[in-house]
Amino acid sequence: MSQNIKKVINIGVIGTGAIGEDHIRRCTQTLTGAKIVAVNDIDAERAKKAVAPYNSEAKVYTNVYELIHASDVEVVMVTSWGQTHAEFVLEAIKAGKYVFCEKPLATTAEDCKKIVDAEQAGGKRLVQVGFMRPYDSGYRELRRVIEEGKIGQPLMIHAAHRNPRVGSNYVTSMGITDTLIHELDVLRWLLNDDYVSAQVIFPRQTQCTHEKLRDPQLVLLETKSGIRIDVEVFVNCQYGYDIQCSVVGEKGIVSLPEPSTVTLRSEAKLYNTILMDWKDRFIEAYDVEMQDFINGCLTNKLVGPSSWNGYVAAVAAEACIKSQETGKVEPITLPVCPNFYK
Ligand code: NAP
Repeated sequence: MSQNIKKVINIGVIGTGAIGEDHIRRCTQTLTGAKIVAVNDIDAERAKKAVAPYNSEAKVYTNVYELIHASDVEVVMVTSWGQTHAEFVLEAIKAGKYVFCEKPLATTAEDCKKIVDAEQAGGKRLVQVGFMRPYDSGYRELRRVIEEGKIGQPLMIHAAHRNPRVGSNYVTSMGITDTLIHELDVLRWLLNDDYVSAQVIFPRQTQCTHEKLRDPQLVLLETKSGIRIDVEVFVNCQYGYDIQCSVVGEKGIVSLPEPSTVTLRSEAKLYNTILMDWKDRFIEAYDVEMQDFINGCLTNKLVGPSSWNGYVAAVAAEACIKSQETGKVEPITLPVCPNFYK
């Protein structure tokens, strides 16, 4: 029996920018059971450079469809720009291959739904979405404390997602689709609840932004059970990459731990370092997430965040974007989760 269990899967990576390159490194140097055999990027030279230190024999494809359908590519990893995800994921499903897709699954709920439908039509879970926060030890501990009833029923969440700065192509809606999307996924998972409405409020703007980006934004969410959530999205906060989450319950409050750093006492001051890079803040979560995906491919059973999770997050994100325009509380109406994803 055991000799039939696959030991290594061959992965083809589409998009070798920041996270694509990081996942290539992680799959090759940190994790077990995966080999990067193919890469593709709009810039073929970048793809070649990204994979060279890890597998100089990996094939560089200039045609993404050829990579997806290549006979030695067993699993596809989509780490290109969000706008390209739906097309590549749908093609991987068509090819009957497992696919890891970085968030967002697609940039519209409609495209996410197409993926959900195609996956169900094939009768097998093939897609895992790159929502890594449920793999983070801090969020897992928060969930455990809530589930054990240590704070009583959760009543409110205060959260913040702060980046030191973003590029000039980052616009207001990306505060939702690129940034808040992580909270939309993880807070629902944390509370085992669904959202019913969203409102986005714009406080006074920072001078460190540009004309196409209103920053910061305050997102107010309400869940089915009446829990109220506020998330501050502030992507030019200058001082660090800072993720906060406090759940207020009937009997206590539980908060995400600070990433561990040494404390330095020097020159009459007490210092703690604040991380600047998302890669460092969630490095362990990315490792656990990707190993879980690889194991799922090897054992033919994916259990991580599904395309349904990607779809639900996209539906909530669309309500937030609508509220950015109207300023009003917008309803979030989610269809019932099919058994396929339960
Ligand atoms: P990035 O550095 O800009 O990398 C994206 C790469 O994909 C670039 O090399 C880009 O090339 C390439 N690309 C764009 N369109 C393509 C296409 N049609 N075919 C092949 N390659 C294409 O961005 P990133 O930060 O790595 O982000 C990539 C994705 O990962 C995004 O969806 C992002 O939201 C997600 N992400 C997730 C996390 C997380 O915490 N889970 C963290 C970071 C990023 P050009 O630059 O030449 O267009």
